[in-house]
Amino acid sequence: MTVADDAVKTRARAVVAAMTAYTLELREAAIKLNQNESPFDFPIELKDQVLAEARARHWNIYPDFEAIALRGAIARANGLSPDNVLVGNGSNEMLASTISTFIGPGTPVIFPRPTFALYEKLATVAGGVPIPVEFDPATGTLPVADILRIIPAVENAVVIVCSPNNPTGGSLGSGQLQTLLDSGAMVLFDRAYGEFAETPSPYEPSAAPMQLHPRLVTFSTFSKAWGLAALRVGWLASTAENCREIRKVKLPYSLNIISEAAAVVALERRDVRDANVQRIVAERARLIAAMAAIPRVSTFPSQANFITFRVEKKAREVFEALHERGILIRDVSSYPRLAYCLRVSVGSPAQNDRFLQALREVV
Ligand code: PMP
Repeated sequence: MTVADDAVKTRARAVVAAMTAYTLELREAAIKLNQNESPFDFPIELKDQVLAEARARHWNIYPDFEAIALRGAIARANGLSPDNVLVGNGSNEMLASTISTFIGPGTPVIFPRPTFALYEKLATVAGGVPIPVEFDPATGTLPVADILRIIPAVENAVVIVCSPNNPTGGSLGSGQLQTLLDSGAMVLFDRAYGEFAETPSPYEPSAAPMQLHPRLVTFSTFSKAWGLAALRVGWLASTAENCREIRKVKLPYSLNIISEAAAVVALERRDVRDANVQRIVAERARLIAAMAAIPRVSTFPSQANFITFRVEKKAREVFEALHERGILIRDVSSYPRLAYCLRVSVGSPAQNDRFLQALREVV
């Protein structure tokens, strides 16, 4: 069979062809600390409860179009109305729908760098103009003053900020989210790691009731603190008007009945999440102290469930040497401002001990 010339070339849009793919190195390891997952699995009795509920449902029938059960449960837990909440297949999906709603050709999109790589990709696909604002990750902060300087110089700015920030671990200071909103920009606030932070803002789910703002969309996930990464559940909160617009863009039925049931059960057992968050935050402090005591290792302050640190050897060598010892972490040294850096998720006490022991050996 001959293939027409035309068929061997991709007709992908130039903006996509020019991009690099979001990739993850697939590696087996006994101890997996590379994706900021929870080290604590969802309790078996709660899994059984979810599966019993899912078993009783009709699998030949689409899920509830409005996902009323989960949106209602999230709204109740956060002092919101269901009109203020949209749910979907991980916060990645919510980010994609929201970025397509608010960012179009020419929209200036301001974000700290380094940060979660997906923002720039989605903004670029939408035709937005990325305006990365580089900052020093060792400070544990985000470059709010620099962002505030840029906002008045561009029209209809959209700011995307992740706090605590992945992959640096730093966070916004108290009142800084409000300052960004006061600047007149549209703010997309990713609080995937918000449960682990010490300084929540009134716009976070931990505030009761959670505050809304007409120029703010807040993204949350069940993948980290809630321990449901495999089930892919994320949600956003905003004004009813914004939610109505984003809903036009979002794919229908993106959340399946099993994942929705699991998130509802998780919300009913907030005590499980709280206990896990407490353990992770305590382990984070222990890990940072222990890592700081290792010569040739310097840690960045972290408000998240991971710690980014700098070594004096090539990060790749440390990554490989840890992998040989059965420990998988993330080499983040190719991010701007993160040369010689790696990121380790906070694991269980036993996993963290193994990691610390291995790190002492390899650096
Ligand atoms: N935002 C940030 C900052 C993340 O680190 C991640 C996951 N790595 C996500 C969003 C996506 O989370 P999920 O789609 O699992 O909800």
